[in-house]
Amino acid sequence: MTMPTSQPTQTAEVARLLAKCQRVVALTGAGISVESGIPDFRSKGGLWTRFPPDQYATIQAFMDDPEKVWQMLAEMEKVLDRAKPNPGHLALSRLEKLGVVEGIITQNIDGLHQEAGSKTVVEFHGSHRTLGCQWCGKGYGSDEFDGTETPPLCSCGKVLKPDVVFFGEAIPTRAMNDANSLASGCRVMLVVGTSAEVVPASQMPMLAKRNGATVVEVNVERTLLTDSVTDHFLQGKAGVVLTDLANEIAKLL
Ligand code: NAD
Repeated sequence: MTMPTSQPTQTAEVARLLAKCQRVVALTGAGISVESGIPDFRSKGGLWTRFPPDQYATIQAFMDDPEKVWQMLAEMEKVLDRAKPNPGHLALSRLEKLGVVEGIITQNIDGLHQEAGSKTVVEFHGSHRTLGCQWCGKGYGSDEFDGTETPPLCSCGKVLKPDVVFFGEAIPTRAMNDANSLASGCRVMLVVGTSAEVVPASQMPMLAKRNGATVVEVNVERTLLTDSVTDHFLQGKAGVVLTDLANEIAKLL
């Protein structure tokens, strides 16, 4: 069965809207990085099938048994280290350079938007590039460890945790404030590759909409947002849809 994809006329209509409005903020989720080889929570046979998030991605699980959680983190690090930005990340970076995209709020911890050249990126769920000690508070760069030391240990002897937001942890205040400000000030919110099931990131499209923004969604399948909040649904792979969109917009500017 072939996946339905959005029609060129629909892409052209959304391109005109984005080129006209300009103040566009993207909210991205795991789906934008699937084409870089990083599985989302839903992919069959992926990392998350073997390491269920409720057992390996909660702060309670980490505090109870950090060594167990590092079995998952070590595998995830290998996947993240290999990953390179794909055409979806590059299209958003191009749209920022064109003055259309104001910023990106990402739920991803992979750093691929920055690697693709995007400058204004709010890492809503933190980043895997730094680690911290939950017991003494000391911070480290992940490049201070070569991957052979698993789990990596703090100088105080405790197991380090990557600075990613586990389920049950609060969103860092600065990321929350920056995301709220971008979402409430944009004219279009481009929601890419998120199931919109993780709160509070999933509330950003509603916040944008309440403040008058149009919501454009790019996903391979319909989500909780599609029939409630989304104004334009572009169905297809982020790499393909965003590249088409950026090409159309570039012609209009
Ligand atoms: P999710 O796994 O809940 O949903 C992913 C969404 O992306 C789904 O709706 C799926 O249909 C869609 N999708 C899959 N492939 C796509 C493609 N090629 N193009 C467009 N859409 C595609 O992800 P989420 O909503 O981001 O929430 C999961 C949480 O897991 C987030 O907090 C995120 O931080 C974390 N996570 C991050 C990464 C990463 O950093 N790359 C990877 C896995 C999970």
